[in-house]
Amino acid sequence: MLKVDLGRVAREGSVLVEGRLPADAPLWEKSGLTWGDAADVSIRVSWAGSGEIVGRGRVKGTLQWECRRCLEPVSTEVDEELTLVFFEGGSEADSADAGAFAYDPRVGDLDLSEAVREELVLAVNPYVVCDPECPGLCPRCGTSLKDGPCGCTEEDRDPRWDALRELKG
Ligand SMILES: [Zn+2]
Ligand SMILES: [Zn+2]
Repeated sequence: MLKVDLGRVAREGSVLVEGRLPADAPLWEKSGLTWGDAADVSIRVSWAGSGEIVGRGRVKGTLQWECRRCLEPVSTEVDEELTLVFFEGGSEADSADAGAFAYDPRVGDLDLSEAVREELVLAVNPYVVCDPECPGLCPRCGTSLKDGPCGCTEEDRDPRWDALRELKG
């Protein structure tokens, strides 16, 4: 949880929110992001006038992926600058804009974690390969071609496997 006391933001003008979002937090389910360890978050939350609240900061951590070609585990370092904009409201329709989130001014605490997740999902490129030169898997026998040819001939390779692989990816 990454919460900021809105009363404090109002009194002090801006508040630095720091915390760690655990890798196994329910927040990340279905986000497509898998963390190797907790993500470090540091965001300065300020009033921007007319009820708007702006959070500026960064998220750091290590994301875990499968290489899109050979399916081997790959990790990438994340150090992403984020800007989060919250405006007074409550209805889902209002929050449709990317990068802008509605908050309910009647609640005392503003939870930043979902906004952080949404922005990260947009910021991070999910097409990760272990190596730009990764030759991937043989579509016929599934052998990783990194270590050399698998022995299948070109004619053996059934293009239907390619289609299946695309679906899985
Ligand atoms: Zn690979
Ligand atoms: Zn093969």
